[in-house]
This record gives sequence, structure tokens and C-alpha cells, in this order.
Amino acid sequence: MRITEISVVLHERRSTSSASFGPARPVPLGVLRVRTDEGLEGNAFLSSPGPGPAQIAEQIVTVVKPWLLGADPLDIGAHWRRLESLAHYLSPHAVGTVDVALWDIAGKAAGLPVHRLLGTCRDRIPAYFSSAHHRSPAQYAEEAAYWQEQGWKGYKLHPPRGLWIPKASSPPVGFDVEACTAVRDAVGDAMTLMLDSSWCYSYTDGLRVGQAIQDLGYHWYEDPFPTYEMHNYVRLGRHLSIPLLATEINPGGLAALPPWITSGATDFLRGDVVIKGGITGLMKIAHLAEAFGMNCEVHDSYNAFNNVAARHVMMAVDNCDWLEVLAFNRAGDHSLAHFSYGLTRPFEVDANGDVHAPAGPGIGADIDWDLINSAVAGVIS
Ligand SMILES: [Mg+2]
Repeated sequence: MRITEISVVLHERRSTSSASFGPARPVPLGVLRVRTDEGLEGNAFLSSPGPGPAQIAEQIVTVVKPWLLGADPLDIGAHWRRLESLAHYLSPHAVGTVDVALWDIAGKAAGLPVHRLLGTCRDRIPAYFSSAHHRSPAQYAEEAAYWQEQGWKGYKLHPPRGLWIPKASSPPVGFDVEACTAVRDAVGDAMTLMLDSSWCYSYTDGLRVGQAIQDLGYHWYEDPFPTYEMHNYVRLGRHLSIPLLATEINPGGLAALPPWITSGATDFLRGDVVIKGGITGLMKIAHLAEAFGMNCEVHDSYNAFNNVAARHVMMAVDNCDWLEVLAFNRAGDHSLAHFSYGLTRPFEVDANGDVHAPAGPGIGADIDWDLINSAVAGVIS
């Protein structure tokens, strides 16, 4: 089998009521199409955050396409190694997106879901709802209680303070503690709670919040400090018993992670299929964590298609306990529309709060081409 064509269809996503992390902006989407001489096609979505679909598509067709045209799409390991070596020319988004599409072809060629090729460990995983940045503790408490009523077992706050909120209008850090307290009071002890501070605290604020959520029985404390402050994570870990979770956006991929493990700066590794080298890269990170007896908690992969792709990795490792559902919902909105935008099938969580393994060959995420074609903003090839 040979790759015969690589192109990206750009789609102008309809305006949504989604909360955004940062300033409001359009939400364009791209559909990567990798076609072969045997009629099989592999896909992945391109979206924000990051350089955006158009810029990633330009990199794919100018840098990746010349390497891959005529190549066997099943040589995924070799292609991954070559694309990783082009890190000076390519956004990690380009590497990850292409890798997902190649795995889609591999699964379709075998007639199997991708997790069967990776080595299936299980057929479901618990979901946790991951909030947007809300304004009041009551908004978080309402949201957590709503999902608990639906049978979900976990909830994570992105607190009122955030990297994207100007300092002048940012609430005092005690407000974040109030929000975490309100959620615990609303859901009791049965629900697993996490806090993702999104790299926004000073050391002293991070210590204060960490001590508070440790006392509230939170499960993990995610990204209190900027990613370049590894020393502050190490320092924080000496004062807290709550597990720290870092490395979500650390640049450098797999090779950048060992110092975070050996210094004790984090208790988990973190990754997705977009910026950590696709399915291939994320599997390597999960196995690295496994060697150290750590979990690799997979985070949101930015769009509906790539979130299905990430689920194959979760099914093929047993050191990831949770699936993040970052639905970008404003307070009071309980839709999961973001999680299926561009796909024909809705995202489903069962009555126990579990998400099941994708079915069907390849990634198993059928693209809603009627929707995509209803607002095409261009084709890059
Ligand atoms: Mg995070």
C-alpha cells in the first residue's frame, strides 16, 4: 500500500456558545485526508489551541507530504521517527495529527479498532468532567453536582483565576479555594475531585491552594506553576502529600520527561495525541511512566476526532485512570456537543460514568462530511 495524496479540508465551525480559554475567537477546524492506492483513507482533525488548522495544514503539505507520498502508510514507527527529527521545521501538532491518520489507515487495513493493534487492556474508562473558568464558586458546585447526578465519578476545576484573565481583573487566590470548597461541599466524599490551575500561580499562592485542596481530599493538583519552574514543583512536593500532575504542555516530547520523573517534580506524566507525537508518541510516554510505576493521565486532545483517537491509547494501557471531558461549557450549559462536533455519532458516557472503547475499524470516528462540506473555507493540498 502506498500513500497517494495528502490534503486538508478547512471548515469554518459555526459559532458556538462554548466558553473559551483566552479571548473569544473563531473556532476553525481542519480535516486531514491521507489517501492510498488501495482506496483506504486515514483522517484526523486539526483545531485550536496552537497555531490553528490553516498553519498546521501548510506545514503538513509543505514539509510532511513530500516525505510521505509514495511511502507505505503502515511504516508508522519509521515515519514517526523521521517526523520527530524534523522538530525544527514542524509544529508538534503536525506530527501528532499525521500520526493519528496513519493509525487510522492501519486499523482500517486490518479491519480492527486501533486499540486492538496496540494491545487492548480494557474496554472502558471512567470520565471526569473538566470545567471552564467560571466566575463564582456556586457555578462550579452546580456543574459538579449535575454530572454526579448523571453517574459521573469525577470532576475537575479550572479555577476562577487563570492564565488568560488579566491580573488587574483576576480574583484573589482565596477565591479559587472557595470554589474548590464549594464543590466538595456540593458532591460530598464520593466524587473524585481534581484542580487544574493551568500554570498561573506564584510559589506562595500555589502552596496555599495546594494545602487547602489536600485538606479537601482532592485527587491531584495539576499545573500550579509555569512549565519552566521545575524547581518549584520539586519544592512544592516536599511540603504537600497531594499528588502533583505536570508535563501537559512541556515542549520536547518524550526526551524532555525523564528529569521531571527523576527529580520528583511530578507524580504523573501527562499527554495527548496532538502535541505529544500522536498515538505513537503518547504510547511511548505511557510506557515511560509505566517503567517508573507512574500513571500517564491522558488529557483532552482538542477536538472530537482526536479525542476518539486518544481513547484507543487509554484502552491499550492500564496506567491511565481517567478520561478528561473538556467540553468548554459556560456555566449552566450541560451540553457535550463539542465532544462530537464533526462526527456522525454522539459522544456517550454510560450510566456508570464510563466511556467505552471505540468500535469499528481504524479510529472508528465517522466524519460528518455533510456538516464539514456545509462550510468549507478552503482546501490545502
Ligand atoms: Mg490541564
